Amino acid sequence: MKHLAFVHRNDTRFAVGDFSPVLSVFSHLELGSTVSPFLLLDHIGPGRLLPSTRRQGVNEHPHRGFETVTLVYAGEIEHRDSTGGGGVIGAGDVQWMTAAAGVVHRELFSEAFTQRGGRFEMIQLWVNLPAADKLGAPRYQSLARAAIPVVTLADGESRVRVIAGTFADRQGPALTHTRMNVLDVELAAGGQLEVATEDGDTALVYLRSGRLQFAPEEPLEEQGLAVLSNAGNGFPVTAMERSRLLVLTGARIDEPINGHGPFVMNSYEEILQAYEDVRNGTLGAVKPAGE
Ligand code: MN
Repeated sequence: MKHLAFVHRNDTRFAVGDFSPVLSVFSHLELGSTVSPFLLLDHIGPGRLLPSTRRQGVNEHPHRGFETVTLVYAGEIEHRDSTGGGGVIGAGDVQWMTAAAGVVHRELFSEAFTQRGGRFEMIQLWVNLPAADKLGAPRYQSLARAAIPVVTLADGESRVRVIAGTFADRQGPALTHTRMNVLDVELAAGGQLEVATEDGDTALVYLRSGRLQFAPEEPLEEQGLAVLSNAGNGFPVTAMERSRLLVLTGARIDEPINGHGPFVMNSYEEILQAYEDVRNGTLGAVKPAGE
C-alpha cells in the first residue's frame, strides 16, 4: 500500500494575466521529477468576476513540449489557438490541450460570462509528454461534462468523475500519451475512497476544499497537496468533512526535465530553440473561430 510521503503546501496567491487569485499548488520547478508525469497545478479562484465589457484572462502566449488540462468548476472560459482549436468550456467541462510541437493560445473568460459576471473556479494542470511526443502534432480535446463518467461510491453520496484512465471499470474520455488516472472527486463526510495504482506510480491528491485523513492519523488540510510514496499498490483516503479533491496518478516518465516559462523540454538547447521558434514565427498566432 502507498503511504503519505509528505504534504506540499504553498500559501502565496498571485495573478496569471488577469486571473486572480491563483494558487500555485505545485510545480516541477519545486518538486522536479517527484510529480512526474505531472508538471504543474494552478488553482484559479474561487473568486467573483464583476460584470464587464472587457474580456479578461491570459492573452496570446505559446506552449511547447507538454499538455495543459483545464477543469472548470464555476464560470466559463474560451480558448483559441494557432491550430484553429478552441471552444467555450463551462462548469463540469474539461479541456485537454496537447501543445506538443507548439501552439499559441489565449485563455479568456467567455463573452457571455464577462457580461453577466459571477463566481469562478478553475484548475489548470500541466502534463508532461515523453521525449518522442514533444514535437508531435498539437491536439485539442474538449471533454463535455456529459461525456465524463460518474461513479457513485458505496455511501450513495460520494462520487468520482473519471476524466482520464479508469476507476471502478469506467473509462475516462481523455486520450493520453502515457498511462495515468485523473479523477475529480467529491466525498461526503465520512466517505472513503480506495485509489488503485500500480507499484511505482506517482500518486498525488490535491484537496480543493474540506479535510482528508490518510491512514493512520495523517490529515490533509484544504489547498494542500498530498504526495504518496512511489512504492505500493493504491491507497485509501477518508473524508473528515465534505471534501473536493483531485486525484492524479500515473506512470513516471524517467527523462530529464528542462522547463522555462511556457516550455517544458528535455534539454536547455531545446528551450532556446523554442524561444527562437516563437521569434521566427514557427509557432504561429491565434486564429479566430471558424478559420
Ligand atoms: Mn496557456
